[in-house]
Order: sequence, then structure tokens, then C-alpha cells
Amino acid sequence: MRGFVVGLFVVSGVLAVSAPRADAKAHRRPAKPAAIAGLRPSKSPRNTATRAARLTAVRGSGHVELRELARGQSVGAPWAGRLQHPTQLPPGDSYLIRRPGRSFGTEATIDFVERAIGDTFEAFPDQHVLAIGDISAASGGMITEHRSHQSGRDVDIGLFYKQQPAGYPASFVHADADNLDCAATFKLLESFLASADDDGGVQMVFLDFDVQRLLYDWALDHGVSERRLERIFQYPHGRGSSDGIVRHEPNHDNHMHVRFQCPSDDTACR
Ligand SMILES: [Zn+2]
Repeated sequence: MRGFVVGLFVVSGVLAVSAPRADAKAHRRPAKPAAIAGLRPSKSPRNTATRAARLTAVRGSGHVELRELARGQSVGAPWAGRLQHPTQLPPGDSYLIRRPGRSFGTEATIDFVERAIGDTFEAFPDQHVLAIGDISAASGGMITEHRSHQSGRDVDIGLFYKQQPAGYPASFVHADADNLDCAATFKLLESFLASADDDGGVQMVFLDFDVQRLLYDWALDHGVSERRLERIFQYPHGRGSSDGIVRHEPNHDNHMHVRFQCPSDDTACR
């Protein structure tokens, strides 16, 4: 298993230990395009570009001996795994991290979360603060209240409401036809789904079937094609069906659980 992330190499007789995570932080939040016309962010996650550039730079130097490539954060499966060399979601003005001790993920996961939230608030700048639930503990593994969330690829995200409910975003709040802001919540969902074809992008979203129905009906009424909705939602095919990326799960009527794919350079990720 090639789990060790820190690259160890010798430069002109000086032993140097690189710190890829610190490098990655320096590249966080580059300038975004002035306007995002569509729902899709740029095709390749920036962490992939960062890693490629780092490895090229190391290989390109004549006096460098490359002993170990930088790779591997998510190890094992979401329900039987762990996280190493984690990336932490930084605090933000537009969201509240409910439990900072559980705000660790793979770099790709954290990048996509930040991007989806950024895209949503760009479209809905006056929206209330968003609740961020558990991602993973710093070293991953089992945490209370979850079976998954073990390997840095699961993120619980709150929803948007017509009026910010009492207790939110410190707690998740049950969504129904009266309180759910379907426009903003659908935008949030679409902003996550925009990464579905990217390396390490969204794999699945778990959301209560009745909440799916509210979003589906709203989207259909607002010009989203039935064909597109068919790709997104399990609704109306039934709670057990394997249609769509968004699937019913009990106890998910007050938040969405977004699961990300294994990044291609996380070779121990399952
Ligand atoms: Zn969850």
C-alpha cells in the first residue's frame, strides 16, 4: 500500500522533506472566473494540477532523487476506512462548520465543497449561512452517529430555507414544503453535481425521498428538463430504485449527504 504522502528527496546533499499539504494550502482559492455562466466549474480539480506541477518540478531538477511520490489520503471504504494527511475545511463567512473536529477530508473533497458553496452563494448572495455537518475526523475512522464518514469522502451539508429557522445552522432542521427554499437548495445540489464527471467529484448524494420530490417538482416548474431531472433524482421511481445520483436514505430529511469518488491518485481508496 502506497499510503505515505510526504515526499522525501535529497537536493545537493541537503536532506529535504517536502510538505505537500502546506504547498496545497498556498494554492487554495485562486482567482475564479469573473462569471460562471453554466453550472459546471472548470474541468480539472486544481489539486490534480498542483500535484502534477510538483512532481514535474521534482523530476526536472538534475540533483533530485525522488524516493516517494506524494499520494494517498483516503484509505479503504467510507464505512471501513481512514484518512491520512488530511485537508481541513477552513472556516468561511458563508457557512458554519458545526464540529470543527470533524471537518477533515481529502483535498479533492474539500476543494469541491468550497467550490460548490462558492458557486451557490455567487448565484444567491443574500442567502442565509449554510450548515456544514460532519466530514471526517482528522485520522478518519469510526465516529459517533455515522456508519460512513470514515475516509474523508462523505460530507453532510445543511439545506436552505425561506427564512433561516431557529436553531439553524447550529443544528440541521427538518425540511418540508413550507420552509424549504427550493431555488437555493436546488442550486446547491446542482453545484455539487457539476463535479460528477471530474476526478474525485461527486459520486452519490443521499437525500430523503420527500425532499427529492419538493426539489424535483420545483425544478420541473422552473424549466429544468425531465431528462436532466431523470439523471439527478431517484424520485419518482421509488425509495428502493437505483435511478439517479440522489438516493433516499432514512434520517436525511434535514441535510444532504454528499459522497465523493476516490481521487485517481488515491490508490488505496475503495
Ligand atoms: Zn452523512
